Amino acid sequence: MCSKILLYIIKMPQNIVLFGPPGSGKGTQATRIAQRYSLVHLSTGDILRKEVANQTELGKVAFALMQEGKLVPDEIVIGMVGNKIAEYDARQGFVFDGFPRTVLQAKALDELLSQAGKSITCVISLEVAKEELIHRLLLRKGIEGREDDNQQTIENRLEEYHQKTLPVSEYYKSQNKLYTIDGNGEIETISERISNLIDKIISN
Ligand code: ADP
Repeated sequence: MCSKILLYIIKMPQNIVLFGPPGSGKGTQATRIAQRYSLVHLSTGDILRKEVANQTELGKVAFALMQEGKLVPDEIVIGMVGNKIAEYDARQGFVFDGFPRTVLQAKALDELLSQAGKSITCVISLEVAKEELIHRLLLRKGIEGREDDNQQTIENRLEEYHQKTLPVSEYYKSQNKLYTIDGNGEIETISERISNLIDKIISN
């Protein structure tokens, strides 16, 4: 028991990727994971929305693409994530939400983490049917008023997801780091499914 606790303390920090299509609940669940495991919640969507709100040069470039439901160029998001990781010391772990969204981003993340002496612990893929995703995003539009939660942009975002983001799951599958979770049901139930899985992974 004692040696297990010691091992846990000296273990590398956990770095978890939350993966899934728009509307699968990544943001909601990432917030909960970050709290439970004392990780930094790194959401590229949130960082980009801040840049847009502050009308920075980067925000201006991102705005049009986000409105259309298109991905922001890899070099921009990779740079943002690199800066964020560099803000913290070697002991800090992260939960990545909305990143990586392309295989190039996934490879860059491996590189950034390895430079910081870290690596990905696991990738958790939230599985939700398309009709439910669209239903949730339209519901969210009414609550949060996000401009990219309209029917046309949602279709484009799902298309981008299938074309560019889904291959990322194959990348992690080939590294034996991909785990799938049923993303249907109550928020609390899904949180439990995720934390049971993470507890099992980190106790091994
Ligand atoms: P959702 O997962 O619901 O689509 P996000 O908040 O993660 O919402 O992302 C919103 C938008 O921000 C995306 O549609 C895309 O335009 C941009 N974006 C966020 N993360 C990335 C990323 N890693 N690479 C490229 N674009 C991104």
